[in-house]
Amino acid sequence: SAPEMRQRSFPNILITGTPGTGKTVTSSMVAQAVPGMTHIEVGKLVKEKALHDGYDAEFNSYLINEDKVVDEMEEMMQEGGKVVDHHGCEFFPERWFDLVVVLRANNSILYPRLEGRGYNTKKITENIECEIMDVVKIEAFESYDSSIIVELKSETIEDMEENVQRIETWIENWRENNAE
Ligand code: ADP
Ligand code: MN
Repeated sequence: SAPEMRQRSFPNILITGTPGTGKTVTSSMVAQAVPGMTHIEVGKLVKEKALHDGYDAEFNSYLINEDKVVDEMEEMMQEGGKVVDHHGCEFFPERWFDLVVVLRANNSILYPRLEGRGYNTKKITENIECEIMDVVKIEAFESYDSSIIVELKSETIEDMEENVQRIETWIENWRENNAE
């Protein structure tokens, strides 16, 4: 059976959303602003630790091995204080997270961001459709209790700063309510 979560001094936060919505920038800003919080970029971990079943040339991405990722992350998540950054969210154990943030951006804003990354038209279109169809948001609501999910607009620098500030305040409140 699944292990229960240990008592932690810092919460675990998932920052999810369609590629280009600002997960990595937002997560690293939160980790930088709050000592005790560490950023885990899942895509990077997958590459570094080879938690995949090879590279998919058609999709230009690694075929992520979800079981390997969960095994690799379990102990880190038990420690607490992790800001997990990933575009999907359904394969992580529900018990890991105290807060799930879904970042959102309008297509007219998302398109140039993805273009700026050098994505081809097919990949841009796929991601834009994903955002329009609320794919990640729906996945989040299917995977976690709605009471821990927050959807945040991430279109401007001001949005980003506001989001980081909101998450910082949320962490402070969590710590007050979960003091040992
Ligand atoms: P993700 O990790 O979700 O794919 P990134 O954090 O890498 O997205 O951000 C993608 C690009 O969009 C980066 O160049 C980043 O600076 C920019 N960006 C992200 N969020 C915002 C925002 N709220 N306002 C302005 N630019 C943003
Ligand atoms: Mn990213």
